[in-house]
Amino acid sequence: KPIGVCLVGLGNYSATVLAPALQLTKYCKLMGIVTGTPSKIAVWQKKYGIEDKNVYNYDNMNQIANNPDIDVIYIVLPTGLHAKYAIKAANTGKHVWCEKPMAKTVAECQSIIAACQKNKVKLAIGYRMHHEPNTQQVMQWANTKPYGKIKEVQAEIGYDVTNLEKSWRLDSKLGGGTMYDLGVYALNASRYATGEEPISVVAKQKTTRPDIFTETDETTHFTLEFPSGAIAHGKTSVGKDMHLLHVDCEKGWYQLAPFSMYNGVKGNTSDGQLLNQYIENQQAKQMDDDALAIINNKPFIVPGEEGLKDIRIIEAIYKSSKTGVKINLI
Ligand code: NAD
Repeated sequence: KPIGVCLVGLGNYSATVLAPALQLTKYCKLMGIVTGTPSKIAVWQKKYGIEDKNVYNYDNMNQIANNPDIDVIYIVLPTGLHAKYAIKAANTGKHVWCEKPMAKTVAECQSIIAACQKNKVKLAIGYRMHHEPNTQQVMQWANTKPYGKIKEVQAEIGYDVTNLEKSWRLDSKLGGGTMYDLGVYALNASRYATGEEPISVVAKQKTTRPDIFTETDETTHFTLEFPSGAIAHGKTSVGKDMHLLHVDCEKGWYQLAPFSMYNGVKGNTSDGQLLNQYIENQQAKQMDDDALAIINNKPFIVPGEEGLKDIRIIEAIYKSSKTGVKINLI
């Protein structure tokens, strides 16, 4: 029997990416939905054949505990709501998949991990890049170092977004902020490209549209120092297109460009190798990898602890950008 997945929050990512990807998985099936918008129910039921008994809202989702069709509850809500609903999900006794960034604060991340441990369920964070083969090559090279010692990483992710609608992404209470939303890819890449945990961070933020970005960041730059002496320069913005992960080593370089898009992640190296392994759909691969981990009782590729590490550094990035002071992370 495939792993039955229940999506919580039927916004853009669920509707346009995850639900279609679930139609391409080998080991998962979209069985249930949790929504606070009744008008979406009939549309989703018709499109994906979801039975009445597998439709929930935010108040009654605890009843999923008694539903054998559902094995995994996947939290795809605004970041500031992840902790509340991931904990509810864990308390049903079902496994939990939680979108990135894991939560707003370290304390929230810890409470999700604790709830999953208490209920003896597995927890995965939706870092799709960890399931993408060209990215996995870069992660492997952090260990094998075919181009020598890693000296400097550039990790840049941005989109030139002009039509900014009123959204939770502009609301700091709901976990908005470009560093949380996009910058987490650059931060996570800085960590997987070096294979190290940073010892310090300094950051700065700026906005060209202060009327819109009243409480969240439009652009964040950060610099991380690693124990080996490697440095990572991260940039993220919703005012500029940027899609680069570049790794400079003692004897050469390699890069992925684009490095974090849904499709077409590819790269090259200083000695002319191409990084261009193809997969049909990142999210289908991610969900199948995690479904297989459940079936074979193996750990998930991206456990909660990995999400927490980034949130700890993101907290420091916001703090440093207020004061301009370098923050020690050890
Ligand atoms: P969205 O705004 O399109 O959808 C959010 C959903 O949450 C909506 O259906 C909305 O109705 C619901 N919701 C419930 N309570 C709400 C509240 N109090 N305020 C606002 N909305 C509320 O957002 P999205 O782009 O689908 O993002 C959802 C999550 O998925 C975020 O954590 C985001 O970081 C993550 N995401 C991940 C990727 C990825 O590539 N892994 C891509 C996009 C989004």
